[in-house]
Amino acid sequence: MSEAREPGFATLAVHAGAAPDPSTGARITPIYQTSSYVFNDADHAAALFGLEAFGNIYTRMMNPTQAVLEARVAALEGGTAALAVASGHAAQLLTFHTLLEPGDEFIAGRQLYGGSINQFNHAFKKFGWNVVWADGTDPHSFERAVTDRTRAIFIESVANPGGIVIDIAAISAIARKAGVPLIVDNTLASPYLCRPKDHGADIVLHSLTKFLGGHGNSIGGILVDCGTFDWLGARHRYKTLVEPNLSYGGMKLAETFGNISFAIAARVMGLRDLGPAIAPMNAFLILTGIETLPLRMQRHCENALAAARHLETHPAVAWVNYAGLESSTYHALCRRICPKGAGAVFTFGLKGGYDAGVAFVAKLKMFSHLANIGDTRSLVIHPASTTHRQLTDAQRVAAGAGPDVVRLSIGIEDVADIIADLDQALAAVG
Ligand SMILES: *Cc1c(COP(=O)(O)O)cnc(C)c1O
Repeated sequence: MSEAREPGFATLAVHAGAAPDPSTGARITPIYQTSSYVFNDADHAAALFGLEAFGNIYTRMMNPTQAVLEARVAALEGGTAALAVASGHAAQLLTFHTLLEPGDEFIAGRQLYGGSINQFNHAFKKFGWNVVWADGTDPHSFERAVTDRTRAIFIESVANPGGIVIDIAAISAIARKAGVPLIVDNTLASPYLCRPKDHGADIVLHSLTKFLGGHGNSIGGILVDCGTFDWLGARHRYKTLVEPNLSYGGMKLAETFGNISFAIAARVMGLRDLGPAIAPMNAFLILTGIETLPLRMQRHCENALAAARHLETHPAVAWVNYAGLESSTYHALCRRICPKGAGAVFTFGLKGGYDAGVAFVAKLKMFSHLANIGDTRSLVIHPASTTHRQLTDAQRVAAGAGPDVVRLSIGIEDVADIIADLDQALAAVG
């Protein structure tokens, strides 16, 4: 590779952040299965604890396997730095812990993963962080929800439970006007299909459990600092970032760390004190998964489009909601935001409603009935009776998880086998 060439996405997916291990020559990033790291001497230890030098102290805060994962996802998202943690939910927790004070508000588009709706409505209230719901498909609803307590806006790019694409740029313009960062959960799209930073996101989150890990074998999450938000010049005081930090000798993190200060603050204030560290083994498995992300996403998208087209013409199917279909309201937006494909996850409704949906899931043979997405395997769930069970009927319908909705996460098996399994289950429920 010549010096001037910018490596492409597939090259970054394999190489970014990694190099042969300097002490052993190991080509694959090792699993650094250690809780702590020896200091060179007392001065080195003091510099590390004072944030005057980068280095390893304790695996609750950083680990070399985790660091490669962070560098790789930051590269794929075009960010300046990242922080990998124990789960997608932990990434959300640390993001808001870094931004919000008790009594603050954030606006969230209500088309979200069911677990995020619960986290925002219940767990976050205990911290005094108040969610204000808007409609992800109507950018003006975010503008109307802005108050002088608003400190962030949160959306998904391709929204759960599938088939909806959000106009990131339109909502970013509202966040800019309100003077607050835009946080985008990019889990369903993955950076291969969508790079939220290019549409105005300031912070990008992932559940690494899904497409980035890709094989359904480990839980993880990550937050990516896009380096775009000016904390020091912001209209509001983000205390964790701009106030003298008593646990670091009065240092102001935004002043010292510039365009990586959000990721640093989430690590040294959030992860240090709240503690949801990612296991080195999980960081390793997810890193291995990322190497094939482009190949898997291409196949996921091809198979999902074929399955959605097939279902759309099936007499037992009432509707199919997949942004890759020309019939979708979100098709044009999808071509702009996810030009390479609409992802693996979509929903459809059976004419037989709730009962037919439940029976259909039971009849599938190759599809696994479980609460996950983004596996190599094809997966199915009936959200109303499972992931979205804790919500009210109105919340379920608003989140696209009404009683007749079946959600599919199409895997990378042979598409003929996927369609054959759908057909035999549809035939069985009439
Ligand atoms: C799964 C998921 C999460 C939560 O991630 P965990 O790793 O399960 O904690 C958040 N957002 C979206 C879109 C998800 O699919």
